[in-house]
Amino acid sequence: MPDDLLLRLRNFQDDYFPHHQQRFQDLVAQGQHPKTLFIGCSDSRLVPYLLTGAAPGELFLVRNVGAFVPPYDQSHGLHGTMAAIEFAVLSLQVEHIIVCGHSHCGAIRTAYEGAPDEAVALKAWLKLADEALLPVQPTREALHRTEQRVVVLQLERLMDYPMVRRAVEAGRLALHGWHYVIENGEVHVFDAEHGEFLPASRASHSGTGPYVPYVEHDGQILEI
Ligand SMILES: [Zn+2]
Repeated sequence: MPDDLLLRLRNFQDDYFPHHQQRFQDLVAQGQHPKTLFIGCSDSRLVPYLLTGAAPGELFLVRNVGAFVPPYDQSHGLHGTMAAIEFAVLSLQVEHIIVCGHSHCGAIRTAYEGAPDEAVALKAWLKLADEALLPVQPTREALHRTEQRVVVLQLERLMDYPMVRRAVEAGRLALHGWHYVIENGEVHVFDAEHGEFLPASRASHSGTGPYVPYVEHDGQILEI
């Protein structure tokens, strides 16, 4: 009797793949050219492809506990997230970097409450949120605010990466800070100009800038 995961693998190949075969084969023949690096929390309820309506080949993904960006100071050893950022910006030349945190984030709660003693790496990792923690009891409201503050902290750290800063200042790269509220199905986007998170339904843009004008296929530039 095949196990559940084996059945899912078979379903993918038998049911999904035949309908999308050409796209996958094109992505192999032409290589991947994603325009977006998505740095997201590992939480299973955060599904980047659903949120962004992305198809295969559109998102370069790196996920970790809390959606953290390590400081660019060589102090974090062999780090996959740093490597992914360097690769995305220098080799893939992505035009967007999204940092996506979310409501009810276990990483943020654990940053307040402490990880099990045996979780040595987790304890060290969660210190990356320390600067964003509030000197209050971790109520639901405080956690919500902290989750958003952590996103902004990661955007600031990204700007310390020389290749990120260079691309942003040249107008080739836009940074986006998102806070996904799972229970509402709504992403709040950070507006750097006003220093606040706005629900996507009310926001006028999805990122912190610089804002690349939206160009229609006929070349007409729309104001955003
Ligand atoms: Zn999380």
